[in-house]
Amino acid sequence: MAHSILLLPGDGIGPEIMGPVGALLERIGAVTGTPLTLETALVGGCAIDAEGTPLPASTLEAARKADAILLGAVGGPKWDALPTAQRPERGLLGLRSGLELFANLRPAILFPQLASASSLKPELVAGLDILIIRELTGGIYFGEPRGVEGAPGQRRGFNTYVYSEDEIVRIARKGFEAAQARNGRLCSVDKANVLEVTALWREVVSDLASEYPDVELSHMYVDNAGMQLVRAPKQFDVLVTGNMFGDILSDVAAMLTGSLGMLPSASLNAASQGLYEPVHGSAPDIAGQDLANPLATIQSAAMMFRYSLGAPAIAEALEGAVSDVLDAGLRTRDIAGPETAEAALVGTMAMTQAVTDAFEARWSASS
Ligand code: NAD
Repeated sequence: MAHSILLLPGDGIGPEIMGPVGALLERIGAVTGTPLTLETALVGGCAIDAEGTPLPASTLEAARKADAILLGAVGGPKWDALPTAQRPERGLLGLRSGLELFANLRPAILFPQLASASSLKPELVAGLDILIIRELTGGIYFGEPRGVEGAPGQRRGFNTYVYSEDEIVRIARKGFEAAQARNGRLCSVDKANVLEVTALWREVVSDLASEYPDVELSHMYVDNAGMQLVRAPKQFDVLVTGNMFGDILSDVAAMLTGSLGMLPSASLNAASQGLYEPVHGSAPDIAGQDLANPLATIQSAAMMFRYSLGAPAIAEALEGAVSDVLDAGLRTRDIAGPETAEAALVGTMAMTQAVTDAFEARWSASS
């Protein structure tokens, strides 16, 4: 049966990346003999312009039916003045809640070829490959009651940090499963010494460990995890944590790699249906100039093959192809250094074509 992929190019640099990446996916399907059906729909600002809403019902319907969704980026100055509830980003939130995407996977991978881009010493980060799994639909960002009350001068603001056992179990399982597929180590991050809700988190995660004897589980307080991420980030394999801690730690980890144009992400539901997207936004400052780095989107596609389409060999070959083009010295402007030769500086189209060629070369060499 064919795998169905919904492409949502979105706004800004989204469409100019998604065009060539769509062609790359077609090529991957042909070269590997994997039947893929690609469909495209509107989300974000372009959907507001065309249909008056950032998430048309037809897009949500198509997303529900797809095995996986690959998104470009949404937003831009044209829609900045709209009220919050009507802005392009609402399209993303609608997809996350509509598909119950509770697990956010954010790898922080630093290709050795780009180690000088990090703010940390190259030896601390070269070859970094860690995965942060953040619970996305619960915790303090959604807990009730919440609000601000009282008379001026005496107001109190409050939020509720709440997790049920079910919510903890389902995100912890994603953590254990990801560790099984990687290097077998899972670190659960909490603040169990201060917050009861995270003491429960620690207990529930610990109870599950016996079901995954091949995974080595450890626990760390969030303040220490923050320190360790900038002190010795390569000690980690997979980290799993709640919504708020994950929000902060995944951005810290992202910056260890130094380049926004390289960072993929995935959001999964219980059925492993997923929304795959680069961490970067729509970059209106460079849109339409063939300057955008497509590698974050291409690596998001690799995650899609691994986590939603059950094709880890394609994921590995695609990640290897990205490494090959970096080895060959090719750079988009955002990852270029002073040592980059003029001839090695490429745009979105040429970079994606180079990855396509490298993928084909790898695949035919291995089969
Ligand atoms: P941004 O990520 O779009 O851009 C930040 C900087 O990084 C810019 O200088 C940009 O040129 C550069 N950059 C980003 N992606 C790049 C790439 N692939 N290649 C080369 N350079 C790249 O963040 P921003 O400027 O704060 O936001 C712009 C718009 O994107 C806003 O409307 C924002 O709301 C939206 N946004 C969307 C998402 C999303 O779709 N998931 C995420 C963040 C921001």
